[in-house]
Amino acid sequence: MLLAEIISVGTELLFGEIVDTNAAFLARELGERGVILHRKTVLGDNLGRVSAAITLALSRADLVILGGGLGPTDDDLTRESIADALGETPGEDPELLAWLEGLYAARGREMPQVNRKQTWLIPSAEALPNPVGTAPGWFVRTGGKYVVALPGPPREMHRMWREQVLPRLPLPDHALVATTIHTQGIGESNVAELLAGLTQNANPSVATYARKTGVDVRVAASAGTEAQAHELMAPLLETVRAHLSRWTWGEDGQTLAGALGDGLAGRSLGVIEAGSAGALCGLLADTAGFLDAAVTGDHARLITLGLTPVTLRDAGLVSEGAALELAAGAREHLGADIGLAVVVSVTGENAGQVHAAISSAKGHKAASVNWPGDAAQMRERAAVTALALAYRALRAGGELA
Ligand code: AMP
Ligand code: MG
Repeated sequence: MLLAEIISVGTELLFGEIVDTNAAFLARELGERGVILHRKTVLGDNLGRVSAAITLALSRADLVILGGGLGPTDDDLTRESIADALGETPGEDPELLAWLEGLYAARGREMPQVNRKQTWLIPSAEALPNPVGTAPGWFVRTGGKYVVALPGPPREMHRMWREQVLPRLPLPDHALVATTIHTQGIGESNVAELLAGLTQNANPSVATYARKTGVDVRVAASAGTEAQAHELMAPLLETVRAHLSRWTWGEDGQTLAGALGDGLAGRSLGVIEAGSAGALCGLLADTAGFLDAAVTGDHARLITLGLTPVTLRDAGLVSEGAALELAAGAREHLGADIGLAVVVSVTGENAGQVHAAISSAKGHKAASVNWPGDAAQMRERAAVTALALAYRALRAGGELA
């Protein structure tokens, strides 16, 4: 068993000016490889605090991963902090110095003196080459434990983690397999009810996640080999699939728009959006069969697209009637086999009100939701509501299939 802690270093991280995506990346990577992660720490650029955090982390964990603070400037103190925590003295490494000077020379420049500290090593550290930057990482072996320092820029960090760190770690024999089932039209608490005690299981496990496109249910298992993990997961996965089949629109990498594309089965789709500023079109961008769209809140224009003045006057633009007329209008005026329309209000009294409608030669259907949020959330929810409606209507067995 390998127990890890992550320490992210950077005042800008601490104060929330940038988001600690590196720690999230590392946490996922560790989990997938069977390394147990107990803590993530975020610290500013402060030698004393980073050094103390390393000492403490080493007292509890086998692997301490530091991210950031390997730059050339005075506030980049990760090397100094590791040296301080381990009581070692850094010195310039001739090989690293030659490499870094060469990097500058190749660009016709002289290496600035501040960069010299990027060539430092301590006796217990091995340099981790950085193929895309000037900051080498450190791989430190100390008392049977490991301290790893990686540069902050995610592009450098990800690559060095995979190419340099992973091969050096004594990773446990471990395979993790998981399948995520995507659902629509059922709330997270109802999913939890439906799955009754199953979410209590540790291995294989079932967990629910509320996403913009509906509730995801992740079934996972870990074992010594991938085949064993699959075997362990299979019965539970089948049970969960059976419980959720009414609401399931896909698994793993599938998207709701992709599932809708399958439901179109060669038919073309025309879209009219009022109030959602193209959010639905954005989701449909890669969907085969997506033919044409009109994105407008202009009443006169919407009337040319099928909205009747009577509906506009009596029910208003944000109404089920308007959505139905515009869905029919999308077929007629955009020349599509299937018409999909969404109307949403993001301001005023009825902010959050969404009506979506779909129309085909076989009939029509509508759906409404009303949920608070900021304007961007409302537009997104409007788009997802329309997408989900279209998916349900067009999928095998759906009313407009
Ligand atoms: P540093 O190595 O600390 O000088 O960081 C250099 C740059 O890498 C920062 O300005 C950020 O853009 C990025 N960065 C550093 N730490 C992180 C992190 N934990 N997550 C995401 N980006 C980071
Ligand atoms: Mg920094």
